[in-house]
Amino acid sequence: MIPSILPTYNRAPLAFVKGSGSWLETADGTRYLDLGAGIAVNALGHANPQLVEALTAQAAKLWHVSNLYEIPEQKRLADLLVDQTFADTVFFTNSGTEAAELVVKMARKFWYEQGDPDRVEIVTFEGAFHGRSSAAIAAAGSEKMTKGFGPLLPGFRQVKWGDHDGLRAAVTNRTAAVLIEPIQGEGGIRPVPDQCLKGLRDLCDETGALLIFDEVQCGVGRTGKLFAHEWAGVTPDIMMIAKGIGGGFPLGAVLATEKAASGMTAGTHGSTYGGNPLGCAVGARVLEIVAAPAFLAEVNRKAALLRQKLEGLVAAHPDVFDHVRGQGLMLGLKCKAAPADVVKAGYDQKLLTVPAADNVLRLLPALNITDEEIAEAVARLNRAATALRP
Ligand code: PLP
Repeated sequence: MIPSILPTYNRAPLAFVKGSGSWLETADGTRYLDLGAGIAVNALGHANPQLVEALTAQAAKLWHVSNLYEIPEQKRLADLLVDQTFADTVFFTNSGTEAAELVVKMARKFWYEQGDPDRVEIVTFEGAFHGRSSAAIAAAGSEKMTKGFGPLLPGFRQVKWGDHDGLRAAVTNRTAAVLIEPIQGEGGIRPVPDQCLKGLRDLCDETGALLIFDEVQCGVGRTGKLFAHEWAGVTPDIMMIAKGIGGGFPLGAVLATEKAASGMTAGTHGSTYGGNPLGCAVGARVLEIVAAPAFLAEVNRKAALLRQKLEGLVAAHPDVFDHVRGQGLMLGLKCKAAPADVVKAGYDQKLLTVPAADNVLRLLPALNITDEEIAEAVARLNRAATALRP
C-alpha cells in the first residue's frame, strides 16, 4: 500500500523534534551534530534567536498580503540585496526551483524583446542541479532526473564538465544564456576554477549570451564571501538564490541587472507567496547578519579550521577518503567507500552529513558553527571512518 506521504524520498529512520544551533534532537532526547544544515538551508543554525525574533515579530503583525499591493518587507530585502550585489532588481520566489523557472523565462524574454525570438537556448553543465520542475530537469539533463518525464522542455544544451572546447562550440548566436553553479552542490562539491568563471564571463561578453549563476546552494555566505562568484571577481547578469537566504524559511530570489531584466514587465511573471512578509522579514535579518564583514571573516577562519582537520582525517583514513574539496563551509570529502555508507556510519556517531554525486560526502554546517563543534564533528567522523575500515 502506498504510504500517506508520496514515497519519493529515501529517508533515514530519524525524526527530529527540536533544534538549537548546530544540534538536532530526537523525541527521546538524543542529540545529533548537524553538518548538513538542511542541505545548506539553516545558515544560522536551528532556532536562531535573532531569526525567531524576526519571524515571530512579523507573524504577530502580518503574514500574507497579495503582490497586488506593496509589501514593505519585500522592498526592504530587495534594497538590501541590490545594495550588496551586482543586481539592480530582485524577484522573490519560495524556492530555488521557482527561481530556475524565472531565470529561463527572463533570458528568453530578453532576447524576444531584443527582436531575436529564436535566441532561446540555455547552455548548462553536466552534473548540474537546478531543481525538479520541468525546466529545471531539462536544464540538468541527466537520465536520473529526466527519465520518464518527457517530453522535456526543449532548448537546453549540456556541456561536459571542464570541456572548454565543447563550451565554445555550444555558445552560439542561438544561446540566450549560460547557466552554471559556481560550485556544483548535488554534483559533488565541484568548484568551477576562478579562471574558468572569468573565461565564461568573457565568452558571454563576446557572444552576448547572458550569464546566469545558480547560487542556491553556494550563496549567502556559504563560501566565505556573500556570494561565491565574488572569489572570481566576475559578476553574472542574473543570479538565482534560495536555501540560506531564508535560514530555514522557504524563500528564494532571482537577482538581475536592469538590462537582463528588461523584458520582465508587469504581467509577465508572478507568485502568490513569493516575497511574503514572513519570508522577507527573516531574509532581511539573515542578510544583515551574514553580509557583515566580521561574520564572513569568521566563516573563513572556521572553514580553514575545518578544512585543516579534514585533511588530517583523510590522511588518517586513506582507505575511506580520497581528498577534501570545496570552498568555505561548502566542503566535500571525496570517498573511496560509498558516501551513503559513510553517512550511515555518521548516524551511529550521532553526526549528520549529506551524500552527493561523484562519491562525495557533503559537509555544509551552519555558518555559525563553533570551533568546539568543528572539533567534535571531526572526532565523530573519525570514529565513523574507523568503523568503516575493512
Ligand atoms: N539549484 C541548486 C544549486 C540547488 O542545490 C537546489 C537544491 O538543492 C536547487 C537549485 C533547487 O532548490 P529548491 O530545492 O529550493 O527548489
